[in-house]
Amino acid sequence: MPIDKSKPYIPLAGGADDGWSHEHQATATCYCGAIQLAFPTDGPGLVDTFLCHCTDCRKITASMFASNFIVADSHLVHLRGRENLKSYSQSRTIASGKTMTNFFCSTCGSLMYRVGEAYPGHSILRIGTVDDFNLHETKLRPRVEQYTKDRVGWLHGVEGFEQARGTAYGSDVKVGLDLGHTDKTDVV
Ligand SMILES: [Zn+2]
Ligand SMILES: [Zn+2]
Repeated sequence: MPIDKSKPYIPLAGGADDGWSHEHQATATCYCGAIQLAFPTDGPGLVDTFLCHCTDCRKITASMFASNFIVADSHLVHLRGRENLKSYSQSRTIASGKTMTNFFCSTCGSLMYRVGEAYPGHSILRIGTVDDFNLHETKLRPRVEQYTKDRVGWLHGVEGFEQARGTAYGSDVKVGLDLGHTDKTDVV
């Protein structure tokens, strides 16, 4: 029987079991459960979804790429644990030279979101923290892969995802994102 991905699927993953998923809003929770966010699963509050293979993202995720979604801060709700967030900022490996601030759980270390000085009013959340795992494949399915030039050699582009060698957001004034990249010369 085919699995219905339109229904919430909230497996036990980490210390909390109170995540939820409604028609237009869902939760993202850190690994220990101290921090829980609510975010919109549709526009205009949900702005975009993307994978990033840049060296900055590989380092900060302790993995091979970051799977992200962008939320307008006006639509982002801190349900609990905001006081438990710690932040770390730097600009050295950010393409614009502007500061990127990372907010992570001070108990379990989960990176919950990043905020770029170059893109005020928005937060870059992590698809992997979203409690409804079916959303990872439906409404939060990445639209584009960027910094494919930094992609690890044993991975290949995902079929159906737009591909960008450098930033997918570069000089687009309307979007104007700078999502935390290391390469200062290869801006598409
Ligand atoms: Zn935590
Ligand atoms: Zn990146």
